[in-house]
Amino acid sequence: MKEQNYIQTWVEIDKKAFASNLKKIKTFAKGAEIIPVLKADAYGHGAVELAKEVQNMGFIRIAVFSMQEGIELRNAGIHIAILMLNPVEPVEALNTAVENFLVPTILDIKSLDFFDSIAKKQKRLLPFHLEVDTGMGRTGLSVSDTYDFLGEINKRKYAKMTGMYSHFAVSDTDKKFTQKQFEQFHAISRCARLKYDMRFISHIASSVGILKSKKYHLDAVRPGISLYEGGQPVLTWKTKIAYIKKVPSGFGISYGRTFITKKPSVIAAIPIGYCDGYNRLLSNKGFVLIKGKRCPVTGRVTMNMTMIDISALKNAAVGDEVVLLGRQGKQEVSAKEIADICKTISYEIFCNISPRIKRIMV
Ligand SMILES: *Cc1c(COP(=O)(O)O)cnc(C)c1O
Repeated sequence: MKEQNYIQTWVEIDKKAFASNLKKIKTFAKGAEIIPVLKADAYGHGAVELAKEVQNMGFIRIAVFSMQEGIELRNAGIHIAILMLNPVEPVEALNTAVENFLVPTILDIKSLDFFDSIAKKQKRLLPFHLEVDTGMGRTGLSVSDTYDFLGEINKRKYAKMTGMYSHFAVSDTDKKFTQKQFEQFHAISRCARLKYDMRFISHIASSVGILKSKKYHLDAVRPGISLYEGGQPVLTWKTKIAYIKKVPSGFGISYGRTFITKKPSVIAAIPIGYCDGYNRLLSNKGFVLIKGKRCPVTGRVTMNMTMIDISALKNAAVGDEVVLLGRQGKQEVSAKEIADICKTISYEIFCNISPRIKRIMV
């Protein structure tokens, strides 16, 4: 039997919806280059297929987190520029980055020298980006260290800074701080251009920053979540009813018997659990969609199975499709709804869908 016939749980990715979200950002940030962020397997959506889509649409650059991610995309035939946001460690691994035409983020002299020496050996210029920490408090050189580092970069002949970037910490909640980050970044990129005559693209805005102000668009923008959520929904997570049982009133469901039926009930078991990324905090709180209706999770989510009260449904049967995240008919379970129950953000809900679950492009 073919896999698509016996597979019980899968994720459908709507490529057209993704393309439409990307086009919307492109129109909105007209004049800036778009660097789609495909880190963490494109937020759990499947980086290889979506990178192909981005490449086919004519975009010239994407961003990933690690070298592993970059190499996976190269091996899958992605030939556009790939920026790695995570500094490469150990420095010798920069050889591998160059072999794979991956553009590193460089933040220290040792890496800069090593990178410059590779480029010199190859008798060509090699591009890298520099990250400035203007207030995110994560990676990146401090603003004052960046001024010194620019002087060092200026002395190297072969390693070329083709991009300088920073990242907003509170673009959704603090206009003043965001503006301060922006101004510091703007000043330092001006200095690099005026004092050292450097040619590079500067970029600071991710999804929220892009929407907040056009002045944040600069030469390029780095949208992530807005490609997957907020516009057209891209991802639908599906499974099928595995088993149905009728139980009397007063019957306990799942570990800990945290749910006791108040009336004779029909309970469906679905083959999905916390090992798949269906969060255990959804126990007795989450909803799924079956036959276009919202049905409650009853009892605790277990490692591989979850029980659903389907007493309200007529004619539900084993094999019926269940939507865990996404739309079915007029109903929707959004990543935001699940994230609220789990006291987190939709990013984490998407990323936590187990990589074992097949992503199917539709
Ligand atoms: C994740 C990330 C982005 C994308 O952020 P979204 O909020 O998903 O748009 C952009 N830049 C950097 C440096 C990131 O780490």
